[in-house]
Amino acid sequence: MIKDLLLTTDNCRYCLMCRHVCPVAHVTRSETYSPHGWGLTIASIRRGLIDLDAESVDVIYTCADCGTCQAHCVTDQPLPSAIAAMRAEITEKDLAPVQVREVHDKLQKWGNPYGERPAENPVEKNDVALFVGDHAHYLSPGVVDAVLTLMRAVGVEPALIGVGRSNGYLASSLGYRDLAAAFMRQTLDDLAAVNAESMLVLTPGDLYTFSQLHEERNGLKWPDDVSLQEVVPYLSQYLDSGTIHFDSLNGSTPYAYVDPTHSVRVTGRFDAPRRLVDAVMKAPRVELFWRRERTHPSGDGALQYSQPQIASHLAYSRLGDAVKSGARQIITEDPATLSQLMNHSKRFKLEGKNLYVLLAEQLL
Ligand code: SF4
Ligand code: SF4
Repeated sequence: MIKDLLLTTDNCRYCLMCRHVCPVAHVTRSETYSPHGWGLTIASIRRGLIDLDAESVDVIYTCADCGTCQAHCVTDQPLPSAIAAMRAEITEKDLAPVQVREVHDKLQKWGNPYGERPAENPVEKNDVALFVGDHAHYLSPGVVDAVLTLMRAVGVEPALIGVGRSNGYLASSLGYRDLAAAFMRQTLDDLAAVNAESMLVLTPGDLYTFSQLHEERNGLKWPDDVSLQEVVPYLSQYLDSGTIHFDSLNGSTPYAYVDPTHSVRVTGRFDAPRRLVDAVMKAPRVELFWRRERTHPSGDGALQYSQPQIASHLAYSRLGDAVKSGARQIITEDPATLSQLMNHSKRFKLEGKNLYVLLAEQLL
C-alpha cells in the first residue's frame, strides 16, 4: 500500500525521464498533463501552494492511470497509484467532478458502469474459475462463449465468476478506495465458494488489477494458494504443445495485433497473443510503433468517464499508429480496448476483430 504519497510525487515533480512515453502528454502536448506535471501539481497541493479546487481536480483526473510511466521508471515510482491516492482524498472531501460521481453511483448500485445488474453466479465447485467481469459481459457477450469453446478444446470447463461485475480497477482509478476493495472481496468470496485452485482472466487489465493494484492501493493481496493467469498465455501453451490446432484464414489484408490497455503492467505476455494470431491468419502481420513494453492505452478505462475527449484522442492515436504501420484490420482480445477503438474506427477505415472469437471460429 502507498504509505508515502508525498515522497513519490516529490520524486516525480522535476523528473523528465518518462515524459516521452506518457500517452496523455503525447496527445495533449501539455506539460501540465505529463508525469512531472501531475507530480508537481499534487506535491504543490499537499504543501498548500495550490488550492484543491475545480481546476486542480480537473488536472488530477486527466491522467489515464495506464502505468506506462512506472513501467519505464528506473526507480519504479508508483506514480499512477500516487495519483489514485490523491483522487481518493478528493472523493473523501466530496470534490470529485460530477461525471466521476455518476460512475461511482452506477458502480455502487449495479457493480459496473453499464447500469445493469450482474448475473448471479451459480456456485458450482470447480478447480478452475474464469473471471468474466463487466466489459466482456456487456460489450462483447460472444467473447465468453468463444473462450469456453477454446477451454473445452483443452479439456477445461471453468466455473464462471464475476459475470457482469467490475474487477475494481475503475473504482480505484476514480478514487473510490472502499468500493474498489469491495469488488476484490466479492471475487475472493466467489473463489472460496467455488473452491477454485486457479483463476483465469481475459485481459492484462484484469491480471494487473487482481495481482498488483488491490495490494498496492488497498492492501489486499492475492491469495498465494490460488494461481492467477491470463487465458491468452494459457492457450498459447497448448498451441505450443500441439494440443490445439487452428485452420488458417485465407486473405492478404495486412493486420496488426493491438496490445490491450494495461499490457505494460504485465510482463512476459507479449509473444503469446502473437503466436496465437499467427497460427490463424495467413495475411501479413504488421506492428504498431507503440507496442509490447511501450504499449499505449486505447482510451478505455477511467479516462473514458473523467475526460472522454482525451480518451477519444488516445483511441485516435492508436488507430493512426495502426494505419501508419500499414494495417487494415486490428485484432485484440480485450473487449474494452476493441470496443473503444471500434467506436472511432470509421474515419480510419479499419476493421476490428476479437482474438478469442477469431480463434474459436478457426478451431479445428
Ligand atoms: S515515474 Fe519515475 S521516470 Fe516518471 S517522473 Fe516519476 S520518477 Fe521520473
Ligand atoms: S499513468 Fe499513464 S497517463 Fe498517467 S502519468 Fe503515467 S504514463 Fe502518463
